[in-house]
Amino acid sequence: MSSSGAVAASVDPAQCTLAVGGGAVPLLRERGQRQVFCGLAGIVWLHRKIQDAFFLVVGSRTCAHLLQSAAGVMIFAEPRFATAILQDRDLAGMADCNDELDRVVAELLARRPDIGTLFLVGSCPSEVIKLDLDTAAERLSRNQQGRVRILAYSGSGIETTFTQGEDTCLTALVREMPAADAPALLVVGTLPDIVEDQFCRLFDAIGIAPVHFLPPRRASELPPVGAGTRVLAAQPFVGDTVAALAERGATLIEAPYPFGVEGTRAWLGAAAAAFDIPDARVQDVCAAPMARAERGLARYREQLAGKRISFLPDSQLEIPLGRFLARECGMQLVEVAVPYLDRRMLGPELALLPAPERLSEGQDVEAQLDRLRADRPDLTVCGLGLANPLEAEGLTTKWSIELVFSPVHGFDQAPDLAELFARPLNRRARLAF
Ligand code: SF4
Repeated sequence: MSSSGAVAASVDPAQCTLAVGGGAVPLLRERGQRQVFCGLAGIVWLHRKIQDAFFLVVGSRTCAHLLQSAAGVMIFAEPRFATAILQDRDLAGMADCNDELDRVVAELLARRPDIGTLFLVGSCPSEVIKLDLDTAAERLSRNQQGRVRILAYSGSGIETTFTQGEDTCLTALVREMPAADAPALLVVGTLPDIVEDQFCRLFDAIGIAPVHFLPPRRASELPPVGAGTRVLAAQPFVGDTVAALAERGATLIEAPYPFGVEGTRAWLGAAAAAFDIPDARVQDVCAAPMARAERGLARYREQLAGKRISFLPDSQLEIPLGRFLARECGMQLVEVAVPYLDRRMLGPELALLPAPERLSEGQDVEAQLDRLRADRPDLTVCGLGLANPLEAEGLTTKWSIELVFSPVHGFDQAPDLAELFARPLNRRARLAF
């Protein structure tokens, strides 16, 4: 479901100015009604990635519906997510939710011996009734005597945006990672296996080893962390995870994100520099895949160049994608809006971003829609809840959540990433005839 922030609509009058690659841009800060998915959406890609994990949402029927519609109902496979539904009696404080939770978890684990790690995922209802899932996870882990690791994290819509569900999940995993101080590269943020394999081959050719990924494909194989760990973020929304890794001694490699040819080249170059590998080596390794990606991008550049695009604040990917679309595809940035501006995670991206007409943080949805109607960009990137109404008003939209579900990182995916933006424009052009 979409969630709306409960904060009264207001625009921070104290606009600040932000240095971006294209100059100094005023940052419009808004704190009002929000229209975004909640963090439960992250279960859709996290359960595909971590193959021995099960996600048990402790929530309401609404949460169950969200999960089923976001993930699709798996009829033939045993799904690895479910909802323990809080009943009216639980919500009214008339029943002991912990007893009920213990019963549900015991039944689940008896029925599914394949589960190695169980995540208890908090929701708006569980947080409103202050059900302490961290304590519940500790109690249930003790009951399991080490057979199953049980962790808790929040996926509630009380968070700012839907990608924070992954950040809170990975933060919970950091506490479980074994300690080791040997030098290693740790790539943080969910990547489809096919993309992870491509990056492994590139890191190997460049000479960076060992390379670990968080999340790993199996939660039972958590990578180590310590003073020698260099963290390379694959997604801009893992700021809390990076902070938790830093507390364990790791160091962040500041870099743009691997979207498009330029971003991927800079990302790999930053990793190599952290391991004292000359940039010439990176260039040798990257030359062929870069040329291939450039050739693939050319046809989409023709379709996208000169088109005006606005991003509504939804995924935290808005700045890296805006950078890619402007610099590599020739699009014009109208409004680039982010749910929250994490300057540490986005600094290298801001340095490259061509100055948009407007840069904003947070949301006051009605004011933002008014600006959008006045701007009338060729393409609007937004959440599912806003896409259909905007299409009905004649605006062309792209669902931001699709950019998290699809393989879009790296050289080989750069043309696919551009195609995701060209497709709705082509569809609209065909409808116009
Ligand atoms: S966690 Fe909150 S926003 Fe998400 S589906 Fe449940 S009630 Fe809705």
